[in-house]
Amino acid sequence: MTTLTPVLTATWGDDKPWQIDSYTRSGGYEALRKALTTDPAELVQLVKDSGLRGRGGAGFPTGMKWGFLPAPDGGPRYLVVNADESEPGTCKDIPLMLANPHVLVEGVAITSFAIGCHHAFIYVRGEVVHVYRRLLKAVADAYAAGHLGKNIHGSGYDLDVTVHAGAGAYICGEETALLDSLEGRRGQPRLKPPFPAVAGLYARPTVVNNVESVASVPAIVKGGSDWFRTMGTERSAGHGIFSLSGHVERPGQYEAPLGITLRELLEMAGGVRKGHELKFWTPGGSSTPIFTAEHLDVPLDYESVGAAGSMLGTRALQIFDETTSVVRAVSRWIDFYAHESCGKCTPCREGTYWLKQILQRLVDGKGQQGDIETLLDLCDNILGRAFCALGDGATSCVTSAIQYFREEFEAGMTSPASELFPPQRSALF
Ligand code: NAD
Repeated sequence: MTTLTPVLTATWGDDKPWQIDSYTRSGGYEALRKALTTDPAELVQLVKDSGLRGRGGAGFPTGMKWGFLPAPDGGPRYLVVNADESEPGTCKDIPLMLANPHVLVEGVAITSFAIGCHHAFIYVRGEVVHVYRRLLKAVADAYAAGHLGKNIHGSGYDLDVTVHAGAGAYICGEETALLDSLEGRRGQPRLKPPFPAVAGLYARPTVVNNVESVASVPAIVKGGSDWFRTMGTERSAGHGIFSLSGHVERPGQYEAPLGITLRELLEMAGGVRKGHELKFWTPGGSSTPIFTAEHLDVPLDYESVGAAGSMLGTRALQIFDETTSVVRAVSRWIDFYAHESCGKCTPCREGTYWLKQILQRLVDGKGQQGDIETLLDLCDNILGRAFCALGDGATSCVTSAIQYFREEFEAGMTSPASELFPPQRSALF
């Protein structure tokens, strides 16, 4: 039986864990002092050796990304923390920044030192004003304590950190749209390559890392890469925050080694809500193909989830029981994607609009012959043809739901979802 491995979440139950005194009492900022006496190249190697992979969803090796920065040329280079958590069901970075903002600030300082950056940015969702305020306070307190600013702890190293609130758009979580937004333009994705590592913020070399990735760095500096590798699997090392939501007895964030299964996580979370059974779930948010009860024992690491036909993504486990209409759930997700499509590319802009129309009539029991084939054809014309990963992500729930629950889509040609799955007080969709 795999157990929880609280590292980032270890102090969440403490009294006001977000305050700098509380963080310092539990050993906070010791890793920064240690890092400042280490050769930056060694720090990059340490993170490479740890096997830490990007916790924003794609799982790209973090140390390798740092290593992609070109050799210093005397000009600025930047760290940008992607704190624009927006994926439906994903709820790990926001609670992390609320409960423990200083572990992120410390991670920012260490990462910046390792990559030779003197100005870092934290780009946070505009809607989460409480998180924005908490980060501002944490950064101000870190400056006052000498963890940021000029000549940090007498090392000769200077770092400024700017917390920036976006205006609230899902697309701004896409790293290049985020950079455009940060530069003051409308957030829309850029063509890659060049990747931000080569030409990012203000066309300068930039590392864009997710909150949880950066926040994982202080513990790696303290514990070492071997310690980090004692958790997880060979290719998916370490701990990660799994957020369980929906029809589960105790929803919330569970920090566990990668490779844990949903069955094990559900045991810790009190199981599917009483009297009901698991129908379907997402392993990594709404952009990842859904799973069913047959996938309860799939190890939640990048390789195993991929081999089973989905993606680990953001480890956002949304749990749905048998009272849920899968057609209605997918329709709600597609409403989100159609609303949030930035409109830059035709496949995503038009495709999500048409997916929405067809799904709505299936929800209403007014589906037409050929609708399922049209849905699949639309997905085929979005996947791999959209400008960024957000268009691809919109297709996952549609194609996988048809794969596992085709009969429910067929039923949508004659019966409304509200009759087949009468809304209940506690129903999610
Ligand atoms: P990606 O695989 O294209 O890139 C991942 C990262 O690796 C990027 O930072 C990219 O710059 C870098 N990279 C990749 N190849 C590189 C190279 N050759 N040289 C230099 N750098 C390179 O994925 P993506 O489009 O950035 O992100 C897609 C993921 O985002 C999805 O898997 C999804 O799970 C996730 N997502 C997360 C949220 C959220 O709220 N956290 C929302 C939507 C999507």
